[in-house]
Amino acid sequence: MTGDFISPPSLKGRAALRRIVKRIMALVVFTLVVVILLAVTLAATGWFRRIIPFRGVAHEIAHPISPARLTPDIKTMTGDRISAAWIGHATLLINIRGKWILTDPAFSERVGVETPWIGVIGQRRIVEPALSMEQLPKLDIIAITHAHMDHMDLPALRKLPKDATLLVPNGLEDLTAGLGFSKIEEIRWGEEREIEGVKIYAFGARHWGERTPWEKKTRGYNSYVFSNGGKSLLFASDTAYTDVFGAVTKQRPVDAAVFNLGAYEPKWFRQAHSTSADVWKMFKQTGAKTLLPIHWGTFIISQETIDDPMLWLRAEAGAEFDGTVKIRYIGEVWRGGE
Ligand SMILES: [Zn+2]
Ligand SMILES: [Zn+2]
Repeated sequence: MTGDFISPPSLKGRAALRRIVKRIMALVVFTLVVVILLAVTLAATGWFRRIIPFRGVAHEIAHPISPARLTPDIKTMTGDRISAAWIGHATLLINIRGKWILTDPAFSERVGVETPWIGVIGQRRIVEPALSMEQLPKLDIIAITHAHMDHMDLPALRKLPKDATLLVPNGLEDLTAGLGFSKIEEIRWGEEREIEGVKIYAFGARHWGERTPWEKKTRGYNSYVFSNGGKSLLFASDTAYTDVFGAVTKQRPVDAAVFNLGAYEPKWFRQAHSTSADVWKMFKQTGAKTLLPIHWGTFIISQETIDDPMLWLRAEAGAEFDGTVKIRYIGEVWRGGE
């Protein structure tokens, strides 16, 4: 018998497979080493704390979602006045002389990009909503200021009852189309509407409206003045410092002003968000008696510590804090005239 010793085909295949597995293993080990080295470097230089998604993940690993400190008693919110309950982040339940308005509803565990397989990819909330969607009263208006993930929680909007009118800025048609609302009212800067007896005036802020950085579409972003029977409330959009609120409330005086606190670190965030000192200044320009600060302590969306926005506001307001700043915790209710 002549001829070379040649491995049978099955043995050749197995050797090739072993080589591929070895290469993959080497690649995995190499990647792991790089990731560990990078993480150690980031941690050692303090950068880990500065990268916002990492801050969120670190908090998520260390803490479960805590319950809201208070549970609003909505039965006490009706009557001939304005009252408001902070549900979390920019979600405020407002009653103006019997009419219920809910702003920027965020009830989901996470806000972010919806994906078909893993669900929502984004920040997890750190506090439960103070009321579940089932505990809400029958709403008259659901008002959206803008389409950012933390202000327009699409899964929650799909679940909310559909008898309310959905009030939105211009350029959100593609997002509102699949939500199931039959009454959708688009309102632009300078326009007025009347819904269920509530007068609504929309105007601007210093912010932007696009939902994602890669979006080409122009989307509006609104601040609102809601009024009913001589009672009125300003609900400001996310904004950098601007004197527009003072100018608007000269024409349309308000009893209370709602401002979004937080998201001012790193400093370049201040191109579109305010420091607590800015909020205090803008509030003073409105001439309102009551400040209702929201939009902090719910999602980790910036670098400042969780409590910093309210501590800074307290320091800024000084002796005026107690008489003026009426909502300090998630779940707290303010009743006008008390
Ligand atoms: Zn925003
Ligand atoms: Zn925001």
